[in-house]
Amino acid sequence: METTTKPFSIEKVKTSKIDQVDFDNLNFGSVFTDHMLVCDYKNGVWETPKIMPYQAISLEPSAKIFHYGQSIFEGMKAYKDGNGDVWMFRPMDNFKRFNISANRMAIPELPENFFIEGLRTLITLDKKWIPQKEGSSLYIRPFMFASGKGFHASPADEYKFIICLAPSGAYFSGKVKVLIEETYSRAANGGVGYAKAGGNYAGQFYPTQLAVKKGYNQVIWTDDNTHEYIEEAGAMNIFVRINDTLITGPTSDRILDGITRKSILKIAEDEGITTEVRKISVSEVVAAAKDGSLKEMFGAGTAAVVSPIAAFGYKETDYDLPELSDSYAERLKKRITDIQFNRTEDPFGWRFKV
Ligand SMILES: *Cc1c(COP(=O)(O)O)cnc(C)c1O
Repeated sequence: METTTKPFSIEKVKTSKIDQVDFDNLNFGSVFTDHMLVCDYKNGVWETPKIMPYQAISLEPSAKIFHYGQSIFEGMKAYKDGNGDVWMFRPMDNFKRFNISANRMAIPELPENFFIEGLRTLITLDKKWIPQKEGSSLYIRPFMFASGKGFHASPADEYKFIICLAPSGAYFSGKVKVLIEETYSRAANGGVGYAKAGGNYAGQFYPTQLAVKKGYNQVIWTDDNTHEYIEEAGAMNIFVRINDTLITGPTSDRILDGITRKSILKIAEDEGITTEVRKISVSEVVAAAKDGSLKEMFGAGTAAVVSPIAAFGYKETDYDLPELSDSYAERLKKRITDIQFNRTEDPFGWRFKV
């Protein structure tokens, strides 16, 4: 891939907005730092990235993103340790997945240095915005989409790659109640479920709204063919603990290959926990809930980290999960966040200094 060696241009804000932010009461992803990175793809090449004040962008109404949804994103975090050093977690994995998503949506691949050096430069510039309060972090949103114009249903000829940063509090507050889906599907065989493509999320909103009306926070998606197997949640992979075995479904073209998922599997093995990667049927989970062998269920993803599930609904019945004093979710969450915040050794080489 052709890439520039020119330094990124940087235009700084005249006055920072940081004083207007209440860092003790942050929501998830709703305030943005002073700067953003923007990079344009034109005439078959990615131009040199520009860092500029966070601002609105202008697009033609015929830009293909609006009509055909050619759009992908990533979700990452930056963490500040007690010494004020800043870390990312496995950013090369996000970069690789970004281009896997790009390929599936016929978007041109992004050069590695625009992603990695772009993140480094932008995060360093807005370093003051990284929250240090427990449970908070700087959420990072790299995304790219079709900015080229035309109503012809074909890939655009121009794209934009943008990175925005959002100091964020916890994604969920408290435990989650989920509904196991029996009607709608998130992804299909041969589809785009493995890509972080915008439309995958839009398609989930309506079934999720129905679940929220019934008192649930999230839908657990099942396979599109039979609805008999548990797949994943909206933006989290799912783990189930039956007796002392920790189980998660295999990734496929319907299930996103989560970085938190594979990190949790590694840490669990390191902790001596028995793990299984295999299909999990809903009937198995319901039977385990009934006979008491279902100890835990939790979601795993960058935004929510490890998110314990308090109860699940299936066929008009709710099943409560027990309160455990020795929960895997707690233990694994502590290990992964200790690595992310540079509070412990990182035997796996996952931390990446910004
Ligand atoms: C982003 C995402 C995840 C979690 O992936 P991480 O790399 O752990 O953040 C899981 N499922 C879906 C559908 C996602 O979009």
